[in-house]
Amino acid sequence: MNICVIGTGYVGLVTGACLADLGNNVICVDKDKAKVDSLKKGRVTIYEPGLQELVRRNKKQSRIRFTTSIKDGVKKSTVIFIAVGTPPRPTGEADLTFVESVSKEIAMNMTSYKLIVEKSTVPIETGEWIEQTINANNKKNTPFDVASNPEFLREGSAINDFMRPNRIVIGVNNKRSEELLLKLYSPLKVPIVVTNIKSAEIIKHASNSFLATKISFINAISNICEKVGADVTEVAKGMGMDKRIGPAFLDAGVGFGGFCFPKDLLAFIHISGKLGYDFRLLKEVERINTRQKELFISKIKENIWNLNNKTIGILGLSFKPNTDDIRYAPSLDIIKALKEEGAKIRAFDPHAMEKAKKELKDVVFCRDAYDAARKSNCLVIVTEWNEFKELDFVKIKRLLKQPLVIDGRNIYSPKKMKKMGFKYVCIGRKT
Ligand code: NAD
Repeated sequence: MNICVIGTGYVGLVTGACLADLGNNVICVDKDKAKVDSLKKGRVTIYEPGLQELVRRNKKQSRIRFTTSIKDGVKKSTVIFIAVGTPPRPTGEADLTFVESVSKEIAMNMTSYKLIVEKSTVPIETGEWIEQTINANNKKNTPFDVASNPEFLREGSAINDFMRPNRIVIGVNNKRSEELLLKLYSPLKVPIVVTNIKSAEIIKHASNSFLATKISFINAISNICEKVGADVTEVAKGMGMDKRIGPAFLDAGVGFGGFCFPKDLLAFIHISGKLGYDFRLLKEVERINTRQKELFISKIKENIWNLNNKTIGILGLSFKPNTDDIRYAPSLDIIKALKEEGAKIRAFDPHAMEKAKKELKDVVFCRDAYDAARKSNCLVIVTEWNEFKELDFVKIKRLLKQPLVIDGRNIYSPKKMKKMGFKYVCIGRKT
């Protein structure tokens, strides 16, 4: 099939590269010329395991190409995916300016039938707005359909998630769109939920809000565990073995971040309110998440006393491991709060430092975890990268000013840390 993907970020580029790998001809469009120039040379500007190789392989086979021209992409394709960003406005509402402008440009360049698919995460009724926008700008009355195909990939395992999803959701208005999308995804041989556009839009917001709820739930439990000396990891294990609950998203920590959960939760709360339903459950999920970060900052303060002129070594800046994405990462809020109290920060992340440098001023970015520990008053774990799980703690102890490790991701054994002579502070576990 001839496919166009508009927006070549984490979702658009993975979608484009994977669909090309399935044998389709894909044109990826982005308005960011520097990004497109780099992709034309086979250089992927984000860190996502396996993506660089996938793009290069498909480029070599001429199945994928890159352009800044929506016109070019639309003319040569039948199925057009919209995968642009949908950032939050200050009110929490999703900003759909990019979706609108892309829809308009698609309409102005259609010369034959097109299926326009919303891949970006959007609030209910966006499908209708896209259709109206296209109708208003479709001067030649070219036939078209709109569909919804929300994306569930996770950064860090995006290619595998795209190629082997638990399910694919498609929201359609008619048989023609349904058949096109079923044909496109048939090589994946995975369950496909076919529904209408509004239900598909709700499935995405409801799924992310539910997962965020699981995280806030276990974080709330971790606070109870701390009060009575119980262990939240054991509690989560005991809960997660119940098949009705499942073990995923039950890791207590510093709270969720990233470009999906925080913004999708706020957008869902906002659109629910607009529709006349006060989604108080989700408001509380959001509140617990914010509070969890504040509690973590308090833990650092309680263990260091005055932060002024103290040095804190931070391990992990990305919002989760295996990505360079720092959008709404807990690390940003934590570092900013520590700096406001006068602390000096030495930080290290295996892949997110370039992006973090643009966001964080007056932070020393270190060579590795040991460099971050050097002459620091404590070492703080914010992201659970695998390489932090097996550090040489004899060396770390020598490098730190005092043997204090504050672990926001529960990656070490409290017993072992104690035995090695550390004061070890973590989340919801007795130390
Ligand atoms: P991103 O910011 O990485 O990528 C968006 C891209 O769209 C950017 O490269 C930007 O330059 C481009 N763009 C914006 N306006 C454009 C225009 N008018 N023409 C052409 N290109 C344009 O965002 P992302 O993380 O890929 O997310 C995209 C959407 O997918 C969002 O709605 C997000 O909520 C959703 N989503 C993201 C993830 C994830 O893990 N990142 C997972 C599932 C769904």
